[in-house]
Amino acid sequence: MEKYVVVIGGVISGVGKGIATASIGKILTEYGYSATGIKIDPYINYDAGTLRPTEHGEVWVTNDGGEIDQDLGSYERFIGIDIPKSNNITTGQIYKEVIDRERRGEYLGETVQFIPHIPNEIKHRIKLASKSHDIILIEVGGTVGDYENIPFLFTIKGLEREIGKENIVYVLISYLPVPTHIREMKTKPTQQAIKLLQENGIIPDIILCRGKEPLDDVRRKKIETYANIKHEFVISAPDIKLVYDVPINFEREHLGKKILDKLNLKPKTEPSWREWKKAIKRLKNPVARPKIGMVGKYISLGDFELKDVYISINEALQHAGAKLGTRPKIIWIDSKEIEKSGTSILKGLDGIIIPGGFGTTGISGKIKAIKYARENKVPFLGLCLGMQLAVVEYARNVAGLKGAHTTEVDPKTPYPVVDILKSQRKIMEESRYGGTMRLGAYAAYLKKQTLVYKLYQKEKRIEKDMKKRLEPFRFGKKANSPYVIERHRHRYEISPNFIKKLEEKGLLFSGFHYRLDSTKLAEFIELKEHPFFVATQSHPEFRSRFLSPAPLFLGFLKATAKD
Ligand code: GLN
Repeated sequence: MEKYVVVIGGVISGVGKGIATASIGKILTEYGYSATGIKIDPYINYDAGTLRPTEHGEVWVTNDGGEIDQDLGSYERFIGIDIPKSNNITTGQIYKEVIDRERRGEYLGETVQFIPHIPNEIKHRIKLASKSHDIILIEVGGTVGDYENIPFLFTIKGLEREIGKENIVYVLISYLPVPTHIREMKTKPTQQAIKLLQENGIIPDIILCRGKEPLDDVRRKKIETYANIKHEFVISAPDIKLVYDVPINFEREHLGKKILDKLNLKPKTEPSWREWKKAIKRLKNPVARPKIGMVGKYISLGDFELKDVYISINEALQHAGAKLGTRPKIIWIDSKEIEKSGTSILKGLDGIIIPGGFGTTGISGKIKAIKYARENKVPFLGLCLGMQLAVVEYARNVAGLKGAHTTEVDPKTPYPVVDILKSQRKIMEESRYGGTMRLGAYAAYLKKQTLVYKLYQKEKRIEKDMKKRLEPFRFGKKANSPYVIERHRHRYEISPNFIKKLEEKGLLFSGFHYRLDSTKLAEFIELKEHPFFVATQSHPEFRSRFLSPAPLFLGFLKATAKD
């Protein structure tokens, strides 16, 4: 029988429900149970693919090509597993499925109604995601009391009735404000959140009390008395600097054992936090703090949005830093700023990253930053758009292809070195944009004797036997040779027509994906006479984990710490 841990937010959103859920998942795996996470997003959008990144943060991409909520990225980073797209459930998906089924006549004339059809579909999706795991974490998006949460809470209560209370634990994540004029931590909003939850028939088993400060005994007791929840289940979760400290903090209050107890489970193994703690220690006491310039386009929208837009890159850098003992200091640079005032703002940087991106804004600033990195031998990592623009820059300034560009920005360029494939163009002409992206994990076959190969080999990321877990088209031709897997999210490709010319001019293509129709897609490039100049069409940040950093980030960060 599978067991569930349901995580619900109270009082306000944005208090780290995703990180708390991921941390609980990590803790439970330390006790020997296989855990996975489901995120329920009550919005009507079908998925996160079309959401504005500045509003919702970055889109997380799964192996199977899902564009989903970034909280699932936290689950993957903490628990160290690959999560399929079906683990992100939105209201839009549920209604679409029910309506599609109704149109196909599958309800055989029944009146299709909110109850039972919507909860049934939600339950079906939860069950689907639960297969082959011992414990399933379900994070309900939003805050208790939101209208749009009601169908999900109703469904979960129904699930509890079916499987029995001993198989489900409710965790409420609440927030305890400290109003500045009284300087006292207030429990009232938490009491009200508990009440709201009870209106849905749900009594929280555990309350995680988020706040600026740790929870003191007076307030712990107060919550116990007012909400009838024993004080040992009222857990303090104060603000901390490093998210990877959250599971360690929870375990100080024995959260894992308390949850297992409520689920009638015994620990299967003794947790071992040694490596995890060592990595945290290295990040907290770094031997170097290299300055990394992240040249993006969303920068002018203010610090707050920024972090979420590039969250995976940020985390991937932290993971690499935790292994190397160097803690990167990220400097956000607006590429439009470079267009206005030149590359002088890049002076003094130890490394430059050009992250992924779409559209035409800030492109020439990014190209200038790449030229600067190449010429001044500053370590450079290009991700997706970053690789496309590195190819444009090389084509123009080294290979002599004047006016070379990506057709995403200049459809009339004389040298379309980055272009849409013929097969995609046809789909686009029919305005079916949804089908034109290369999404999810793809295998790349690396050339030996390249830096990229060396980096992947060092981290034991050259794979041989993962085939069963991915669809065949993701391996493409050549499926018999060793390969590396990274995730993708882009429409344009390095045009196969220019690869030979660029190779002749010294650009090293370190790896390719070979589509089933034999088209050769460039996946990695590098430059020989440079301390570190590497770019990839993929997004290696999506496969970086706290204890197993992405090879390219490791190589890049290592290069930045050198004098
Ligand atoms: N805009 C580019 C493309 O669609 C790059 C996308 C990205 O960086 N994720 O191919």
